[in-house]
Amino acid sequence: TTSELRYIHWKLDQNYFDQDKEYVGFATLPSQVHRKTVKKGFTFTLMVAGETGLGKSTLINSLFLTDLYRDRKVPNAEERISQTVDIIKHTIGIEEKGIKLRLSIIDTPGFGDAVNNTASWKHVEDYIDQQFEQYFRDESGLNRKNIQDNRVHCLLYFISPFGHGLRPIDVECMKALHVKVNIIPLLAKADSLTQAEVHSKKLKMRDEIKQFGINIYQFPECDSDEDEDFQRQEQILKDSIPFAVIGSNIQVDSKGRRFRGRSYPWGVVEVENPVHSDFLMLRNMLVRTHMQDLKDVTREIHYENYRAQCIQSMTRMMVQERKRSNQSATDFLLLFFQLRKMQEVLERIQEQMQQSQRGTC
Ligand code: GDP
Repeated sequence: TTSELRYIHWKLDQNYFDQDKEYVGFATLPSQVHRKTVKKGFTFTLMVAGETGLGKSTLINSLFLTDLYRDRKVPNAEERISQTVDIIKHTIGIEEKGIKLRLSIIDTPGFGDAVNNTASWKHVEDYIDQQFEQYFRDESGLNRKNIQDNRVHCLLYFISPFGHGLRPIDVECMKALHVKVNIIPLLAKADSLTQAEVHSKKLKMRDEIKQFGINIYQFPECDSDEDEDFQRQEQILKDSIPFAVIGSNIQVDSKGRRFRGRSYPWGVVEVENPVHSDFLMLRNMLVRTHMQDLKDVTREIHYENYRAQCIQSMTRMMVQERKRSNQSATDFLLLFFQLRKMQEVLERIQEQMQQSQRGTC
């Protein structure tokens, strides 16, 4: 009967509340957030810069195990001399264990490559600003729900292993960009250096970065209650800057194993071997451990800087406009009073003329 059914429901409810006296339900929030974000998918935008031939495209292919540069055309010497910086964007969708990542790679081919390199990073700077501008517009627009985030979250800056530390163009470029993007410097083609050379070049570059006041991406400080092992790993990461990297597009067979590597007459270099390079450390940090922090710093610091500057210049423009319109109002009033005065003078003259006419009559 109906009353029996009602009793059963009441009993079930009682049981439920008895069991879960301490349980409101918000403990499921993380899994709700998780489900929602997983459904939405993740986006990450990575930019690479450095002169042509330093192994940028090879490293990107190695990092994301995909051939992004299949249709790439390498410019000849003549084209390079007059080359302007073409910014090329590749977007790929990667899926791992049901998690989707829309990865965009922004390549700056020819950067630092032409004969006249004066402010060749200007194009890179403009590109980063344009993405901020677009985001700022979208955020202030009507369709704020579906904004596509194209802001650049990280810049891998390739430094040549053949020079003595940073070149002037590296310093100028990084200084121009460090307020706009998270810069991670890389020591390219590390297999062309001995272990001691890698060590001394890293020290020198870190010193120069400090000396020239370049603000590269800062790894977040560990909390004091953090696991000791984790703290040690973070310190190793900080001490490895600039990451010495090696890239390869081919698989090598050696001693019964198959791996991404470079084969030389004297031996084989393994891209993913931590003894041979910092490649694995870079990939882990980019993908596994610091992707979200790179995005947070982009949003909270670099984008906020841009936004503040935008709002400041908009306010300045508005004040100037108001001053200008106030000025024109004052001009109008002055003119109005002058006209009034002239009118009064005319009226007085007219009156005097009428009086003198009347007198003659
Ligand atoms: P990009 O112009 O900076 O994109 O450079 P590429 O990726 O096209 O590489 C230019 C040349 O350097 C190619 O012949 C690559 O095989 C080679 N190369 C790429 N990465 C490495 C590396 O880590 N070590 C060495 N020795 N050569 C590399």
